[in-house]
Amino acid sequence: MKTLEKLREETLALLEYNCPEEHRGRAADLVEEFADDRIAANVLNEFYSTVPDAEEDAVLDLRLVTRRAGLFLLCAMTAAGKSHLCLASMEEAAILGPLDHGPGDPEILSFFGFADNGEFLAKHAEADRLAQYRPVGMDPALCPVCGAADGEFHVLGCPVETCPWCAGQLTACNCRFEKSGRKSFRGERDIDRFAQLLEKKGRVPFRAADERPGFLEEKPR
Ligand SMILES: [Zn+2]
Ligand SMILES: [Zn+2]
Repeated sequence: MKTLEKLREETLALLEYNCPEEHRGRAADLVEEFADDRIAANVLNEFYSTVPDAEEDAVLDLRLVTRRAGLFLLCAMTAAGKSHLCLASMEEAAILGPLDHGPGDPEILSFFGFADNGEFLAKHAEADRLAQYRPVGMDPALCPVCGAADGEFHVLGCPVETCPWCAGQLTACNCRFEKSGRKSFRGERDIDRFAQLLEKKGRVPFRAADERPGFLEEKPR
C-alpha cells in the first residue's frame, strides 16, 4: 500500500495534467485537507488517475453517501457540476459513475443494505442533500485504522481488532498460528481458512467506547 505522503504527491502531480488550471488551487486545497485520510485520499487519487468522462475536471467537495464495515460510498462533486459516486476502502477506490445512476451493481447495493438501485436513488440521488464527508480519524464512532463503525466488525487484518481467544491484539498474538496450525500465512487460502475459524469462534466487533478514547464525551447528551 502506498504511504499517505506518496498518495498525496502523486495526486498533486496528476492535478497538473487532469485539472483545469483555474480550479487547480481549490482542488489542491482539498487534496491537502484530506491528505491524512486514506479513504478520501484514495478517492481523489483515483479520480485524477482515471479522469472520469475523459475530461479535465476538479473535485471541490466530498460528501458521504453511506458506509459500512470499512467500505465507504462517497460523492465527489466537481467544478463542472458533476457528482461522481465513488466506492472506497482504506486500500483502494473506484469511481462507479454518476450519483444519480446509482451503483447498479447488486452486490454493492446489498452490501450497503439497499434492496435495489431504485431504493438507493430514492434516498441518495441528490448530492446537495448529502452530509459533508469527515475524515475517519475525526469521527469518534469509527475505527481509526479500518473505518468500521461502532458495533461493526473490523476489516480483517485491522490491528485494532481484539482476539476472541486470548483478548489480545489479533494481528499480534499467536492465536492465528495456534488455531490454524500454520507457522505463517501464505496467500488468500490461509487467510480465508483462518477467517472461517474466527467467524466460528465469534469475532469481537469494534467498540468505540473502549477503543476510542473520547467517544463517550462526544456523544450528544
Ligand atoms: Zn478496525
Ligand atoms: Zn489471541
